Amino acid sequence: MAVARVVIDLMLDREFDYLVPPKLVGQVRPGVRVMVPFGNGASRSAYVVGLKEKSRFPNLKAIESVTGGREQIPPSLLRLAQWISEYYCCPIEGAVRAMLPAAVRGGKIKHREEQFACLATKAEHTGPELGKLTKKQRHTLETLTRLGSVPTSELREAAEVGPSVVKKLAEKGWITLEKRVVGRDPFKEDVILPTKPLDLTRHQAEALATIINGVDEGEGNTVLLHGVTGSGKTEVYLQAIDYCLGKGLEAIVLVPEIALTPQTCGRFRARFGEEVSVLHSGLSDGERFDEWTKINEGRTRIVVGARSALFAPFRHLGLIVVDEEHENTYKQDEIPRYNARDVAVVRGRMEKVTVVLGTATPALESYYNCELRKYTLTELPVRVDDQRMPLMEVVDMAAEASLRGGAQIFSRRLEDLVNERLSNGEQTIFFLNRRGYATQFLCSDCGYVAGCDDCSISYTYHRRDQMLVCHLCGSLLPAPDTCPQCGNKEVRYTGLGTEKIEAAANGAFPRAKVARMDSDTMTTKRAYQKTLAEFGAGRINILIGTQMIAKGLHFPNVTLVGIIFADLGLHLPDFRAGERTFQLLTQVAGRAGRGDRPGRVVVQTYTPFHPAIQFALDHDFKGFYKEEMEARKILEFPPATHMILLHFRGEDEARVGEVATEFSEKLLPLLPPEVQPMGPMPAPVAKIRGKFRFQLTLRGGNVVQLVRLLRPLVVGIKGYKGVEIHADVDPRSLM
Ligand code: ADP
Ligand code: ZN
Repeated sequence: MAVARVVIDLMLDREFDYLVPPKLVGQVRPGVRVMVPFGNGASRSAYVVGLKEKSRFPNLKAIESVTGGREQIPPSLLRLAQWISEYYCCPIEGAVRAMLPAAVRGGKIKHREEQFACLATKAEHTGPELGKLTKKQRHTLETLTRLGSVPTSELREAAEVGPSVVKKLAEKGWITLEKRVVGRDPFKEDVILPTKPLDLTRHQAEALATIINGVDEGEGNTVLLHGVTGSGKTEVYLQAIDYCLGKGLEAIVLVPEIALTPQTCGRFRARFGEEVSVLHSGLSDGERFDEWTKINEGRTRIVVGARSALFAPFRHLGLIVVDEEHENTYKQDEIPRYNARDVAVVRGRMEKVTVVLGTATPALESYYNCELRKYTLTELPVRVDDQRMPLMEVVDMAAEASLRGGAQIFSRRLEDLVNERLSNGEQTIFFLNRRGYATQFLCSDCGYVAGCDDCSISYTYHRRDQMLVCHLCGSLLPAPDTCPQCGNKEVRYTGLGTEKIEAAANGAFPRAKVARMDSDTMTTKRAYQKTLAEFGAGRINILIGTQMIAKGLHFPNVTLVGIIFADLGLHLPDFRAGERTFQLLTQVAGRAGRGDRPGRVVVQTYTPFHPAIQFALDHDFKGFYKEEMEARKILEFPPATHMILLHFRGEDEARVGEVATEFSEKLLPLLPPEVQPMGPMPAPVAKIRGKFRFQLTLRGGNVVQLVRLLRPLVVGIKGYKGVEIHADVDPRSLM
């Protein structure tokens, strides 16, 4: 008797044994989706994770049916799910679930069918009978002869006839109508001009050779491609993928969600056409289903996508590229809390696939792994065609304020440079990583600051909508005219957001056409593409944006980037605050001077001597790395050690604190001496969406051992009423 091990789509963190009934033998294989009876008889969807001869449990129930046909999760990915479940301390179901898009898992989305018209054999032979047709019918038949077999809707449009004409032709046996499966095409509206491989620069050729060497060896090694902005990393990816296709291998390209601009996808489509599928959050469920199905059925060999595209069910994978590998968006902030970059490296080892991590600003983790010889480092130290790196200059805004009698939004230096650009038709980008108008609604009399009831932050004022908005939970409140606490009419809005920059830019540069790009203005994919297209065509002089515009964009006419407030984010209580600032400054600066004219970057800051700013000014990643890494080693922060963050969340503050303490008292005596606990204590953002948050961090020791010890204490546990506990292994955010 065959027995299948399945995981049921409930977060129980366990496998169940089910009998494979004789009629399903052969169909029930690891990775297929099945329906099983569970609890008091209800059918549940489940995934088969393995088969065995017998079970130690008596009276097994039988699998009811197999759904979805072909296996949805190849065995290699099942192994990866197991690894994720163990390393990231999450239930196995959570990891299995991450392997499939919801549109596929749900089983509700189907292939789209469309009616096609084809010529019947009769139409090819019987000449004289044609005379019996009406003029319209004959015209339709001629059109179809010209077009070949096409969707009925297209035929009608081309022949300019109504449905009845087509129907008549079918009835009389001139044409046949049939339903066919058609793909939903997310690229339908894009115009893509094909490109050919470029002649590589010497550095590019060396980088490519390193990668190809890895592919040939097939040891599953990882290459860190550290290339300055504009050094031609993408061309290296393209040619490495081309090499893999030539060997019959497939490739995954991961890009951070925010960089998934039409520009990025377009470059892959332009080179590889139909071979490219995309998987990202901008797709409809139907499109995602189709794209994923194409991959699973081997009808496409390249996928470009966000985080979860890492789990594309390729069977002959040759290469995984993780572009902008330092990005935090690769870390998922819900179960399973995996980092797609790190899991890519693991998938690479498991499937003997070369992994390329590309970036202009490596994460300290990745660079450190090169030092440890776990990854191979390859560098593109100069821009393509020896274009100069942008000239960076710093403006001390404190000095500016004392000279001009108050805080300014634009320094005189920046204003001068913008005006120069406006005169000679070049373009400018302003960067500020905060949306909204002002960050605080402040009463100048009683000091009242409007804050969200459910989160421990103050409201951001959005002027266009006249609303106060919580940027953590999204709650809204009409902006009051007077202070709700004392009735004072003198309310002030302090702090900067992109909306205010936009207003200030319109005031300071009346000749300029200004546009803003942040998640408030870019609520649809279309709005985003439209703004980019207008900017590309030169109809916008100044583009203002948040991190949405920080990377990936390539506009040769942009010769000036103004970083409005570089200190934002520099003083957050997070050990990566400096690293993140360095990365952001470098990335944003990289948008300047990507054409023949050199670019300039003005960095406005109140702390001009901060190392993150100083090293960014010099384009000196290695200098920054050396100094920062030394500090991390002394303080024993990642990557000098691994970190695990334990979260405690619940609605009753006292109860959350109690549970955190109780849990810690239980855990701490079990820890090896080299592990340093910190906490429990309230999280830096102590409350979000009405839930109070405590945390306990663990550093040091062997992370695998630590995870093994921790997992049973946090996965599938009950008994802490009203408080959720979960572990975040290698957290990217400590807030
Ligand atoms: P990065 O991703 O490193 O910022 P890109 O891949 O965007 O750089 O390349 C910058 C520009 O240089 C692109 O327009 C690209 O087409 C061009 N480019 C890349 N490699 C070459 C090459 N070998 N010869 C000529 N142009 C190149
Ligand atoms: Zn809130």
